[in-house]
Amino acid sequence: MEKYDSIKLIFLKELCEYMESIREHMDQINSPHSSFIAAASWLISPNTPLLAGGALFIQDGVIKTIGLREDLKRDHNVPVIDHPGCAILPGFVNVHTHLELTHYPAWRLRNHVEYHPRRFVDWIIQLIKVKRGLTIDDMKSSAREGIRMCLESGTTAVGEIVTTKMLGDLYRSSQLSGRQYFELFGHDQSRFRTALTQAVEAAQAVPKSAFTGGLSPHAPYTIADEHLPLISAAARNTGLPLAIHLSESAAETAYVFDSSGQLADELFPFVGWERYLVPPRRCSSTELLDRAGLLTPNTLAIHCVHVTRADAEILKKRGVSVALCPRSNERLDVGRAPLALLRKLGIPMALGTDSLASDDSLSLWDELRFALNAFPGELSPEDVLHMATLGGAAALGINMGHGSLEPGKHANFQIVGNVGDHAESGKLLEQIAFEGVVQDVFVLGQPYVGDYNRGNPETVFRQRRILQSH
Ligand SMILES: [Zn+2]
Repeated sequence: MEKYDSIKLIFLKELCEYMESIREHMDQINSPHSSFIAAASWLISPNTPLLAGGALFIQDGVIKTIGLREDLKRDHNVPVIDHPGCAILPGFVNVHTHLELTHYPAWRLRNHVEYHPRRFVDWIIQLIKVKRGLTIDDMKSSAREGIRMCLESGTTAVGEIVTTKMLGDLYRSSQLSGRQYFELFGHDQSRFRTALTQAVEAAQAVPKSAFTGGLSPHAPYTIADEHLPLISAAARNTGLPLAIHLSESAAETAYVFDSSGQLADELFPFVGWERYLVPPRRCSSTELLDRAGLLTPNTLAIHCVHVTRADAEILKKRGVSVALCPRSNERLDVGRAPLALLRKLGIPMALGTDSLASDDSLSLWDELRFALNAFPGELSPEDVLHMATLGGAAALGINMGHGSLEPGKHANFQIVGNVGDHAESGKLLEQIAFEGVVQDVFVLGQPYVGDYNRGNPETVFRQRRILQSH
């Protein structure tokens, strides 16, 4: 036993020294002025031919040059971080998240509502029950966990729905970026006006460094019709983009068309909204939003499972982008988005995981793999990789800096292993889409080393190995 303890002590001492030396290396590479070359067997970026033996020259967190490893090495006398047998891809853009809800599975247990909802309305009611009684600290630790899960799975930007500006600092202190859409809902007029003013202020106050702001009117059934034009006016006046859950369930279709169905019969009484039920509108959710001026090229429509051909044509005409969340739709048993129709019309599409209230992970890799299997013959590996990168960045309006490996863009990228040795591009993309494994993630040219730089030993060790090989 004693012998075991002394070995343990020696090991711990060596480990500490080792970690200290690693930190020195990490400090070098984490220097805001550091320049280096990141190289791999493949460089893969949307709208760009695959580059075998490609590399990025990175300076001050920005991609400066893309080229062959040997050419960049000749031109720049800087460290080379090589990843043989791997591919470099842009950091993924997950266009629809609610990271505040990452601890939902635990909260469900804690609040004794651990039943598995069978219908959409059951899920919404469960969500409300779970959210009741949450403290700001609950939400902070939940969002922090969500941020970690995103970054570890290669996602460097998100379209995040935020319910309180009190989480602002949390996002700012992380390496994640993207767009924060401040959520809006409610039927009461005076309360809604106040909430809208606060949401606009919060969205405008988002510092432009990592995140940019937006508004998220939750869904047609949680906001009074008379409030919709106020939101579109606010968006128009401020230039803030919108994200809205649209046609997620058949229950929503019934509610909007004739104020009937499960939402009218069960959700409204549950939250005390009976007095807000309106006479039948005899239109779809898409038409309702369009009449209020909410559908523009700055709008992201989330889900779109129950859009008709006429609805899809309106979305196309207005330049709306669609966020597909196929795993969430499957879990809540609401159906599948009419992908072929949306594609045929040329509607821009991207991928979102939604939250852990309705999905199993926050990995966009998991989402794109599910999408490939859910829509066989309708989506190629190239399609889903585009949706997860440049398609997502365009949908959030952040494609100037995100979504592809191009000079001038943020040095946000992921090192993906298990890519095989396929020389043919179709086979390579298929291998990556189905079998790729995220090995390292870089944000603004800095390696992601775990939650809030506390350091993830696995990643740090790997980083040291890479640095030592040069
Ligand atoms: Zn959502």
